[in-house]
Amino acid sequence: MSTESDAADRSARHAAGVDQTKDARHAARMARKKALIDAAIAAASDERGLLLVITGNGKGKSTSAFGMVARALGHGMKVGVVQFIKSRTDTGEEAFFGRQPGVEWHVTGDGFTWDTQNREQDIATAERGWAIAARMLADPSYQLVVLDELTYLLSYGYLDSDRVLDALAHRPAMQHVVVTGRAAPHTLTELADTVSVIADEKHAFRAGVKAQPGIDL
Ligand code: ATP
Ligand code: MG
Repeated sequence: MSTESDAADRSARHAAGVDQTKDARHAARMARKKALIDAAIAAASDERGLLLVITGNGKGKSTSAFGMVARALGHGMKVGVVQFIKSRTDTGEEAFFGRQPGVEWHVTGDGFTWDTQNREQDIATAERGWAIAARMLADPSYQLVVLDELTYLLSYGYLDSDRVLDALAHRPAMQHVVVTGRAAPHTLTELADTVSVIADEKHAFRAGVKAQPGIDL
């Protein structure tokens, strides 16, 4: 006749058996996954300059680009940044990266178009910024170029889109470019190698929180 402790033993042995089976299944699944990932890594043998577009309404587009600037500088690469919209020069990223050797940082914007309310002025500013960007896109010594908020200049028609796409398409073969901004035009995402669309699920600003240093600027 089985006692309570026999039952507990059986149940413990059963649980251990179930765990072992789970462990074995997990190990087999991971081995299959690793084989697939290793094969994919081995197959991805190309090396070339990439065009990345970080778009969408959520927060994190420019900061993603600046993360890649940090990575590139860590590898000793030469980096060029053009900020097309931002007029403020008190951002943490500019203060920090401006001190780093190896990065050339330009803030060319006059602010958002609803601030300037002057189309002529916006177009002139866009052209000034684009002249800097075009110079970088023609110079292979820049290994990473960030064109922050470039999409707005295309969607507002401040820059001729064919001219921009042509410069991007004909840049040096090993040069990486990151373009940020909402509503990236289809022609740009089509040309890009990597496109991330950041969704806006929640933003503290809508709860009345003003832009926070270290987070928003
Ligand atoms: P970040 O520079 O923080 O990565 P971003 O580049 O994705 O933001 P932008 O549209 O360039 O977004 O906006 C810049 C500023 O507006 C930042 O201070 C950011 O926190 C804020 N912001 C971004 N997305 C939103 C949003 N959905 N609602 C309100 N404010 C936002
Ligand atoms: Mg931005």
